[in-house]
Amino acid sequence: RKLVIAIDGPAGAGKSTVAQIVAERLEYTYIDTGAMYRAVTLFVLRKNISVCDVEAVSRLARESEITLAYEKGKTRVYLNGEDVSEAIRMPEVSRMVSHVALIPAVRQAMLKLQRQMAARGGVVMDGRDIGTQVLPNADIKVFLTASIEERAKRRWQELTSKGIAIDLEELKEEIACRDRMDCERETAPLIKAPDAVLIDTTGLSIEGVVQEILKLCEE
Ligand code: C5P
Repeated sequence: RKLVIAIDGPAGAGKSTVAQIVAERLEYTYIDTGAMYRAVTLFVLRKNISVCDVEAVSRLARESEITLAYEKGKTRVYLNGEDVSEAIRMPEVSRMVSHVALIPAVRQAMLKLQRQMAARGGVVMDGRDIGTQVLPNADIKVFLTASIEERAKRRWQELTSKGIAIDLEELKEEIACRDRMDCERETAPLIKAPDAVLIDTTGLSIEGVVQEILKLCEE
């Protein structure tokens, strides 16, 4: 039977790295929901719309055609047919995304797409509200955390390796700010589902976390 696996947690906890490997091992589809919110945010930035204009942002979210594809071992994100995989990682998008993700109509549009993507099973989906809102009946739920220092360091290494220059302290601030917004928002806040397994990845290897999740799948 093909399982549905939900992985949630704050920024930099290792969700996407781990989720991608788990999906590969099980030959499942990996769905990065953060990338979807980032794609909408990029669209908002490009259209020069203010995040305060809830109506306009909501309309844009409904008009965004977002698709995820897996090519040469990497997830690619398409916005209205254009490959925006690199563009959505820019610091401007990171700073704005949690504001866009606050808007209920944006969340509704993404939730609908995400449920469609998971409908056939055999998926590993990561985000903030997967176990609580998007896929409350997921077979496996995992909540990944790590200390803010560790998470900032990981993100910094990831961005630096992609040639994106950013100050570590500034990144720590941005992540802390995003966490606060994600945890405190009214619609679908970042919270561990009661039935999710908590894994603190501070000091754990990627493979160690992957093994723990694969073990849950065998039970
Ligand atoms: O995972 P990533 O850091 O790319 O997510 C970017 C932002 O998108 C998060 O900080 C959060 O505001 C939003 N998000 C969300 N719900 C999800 C996934 C991401 O609100 N399921």
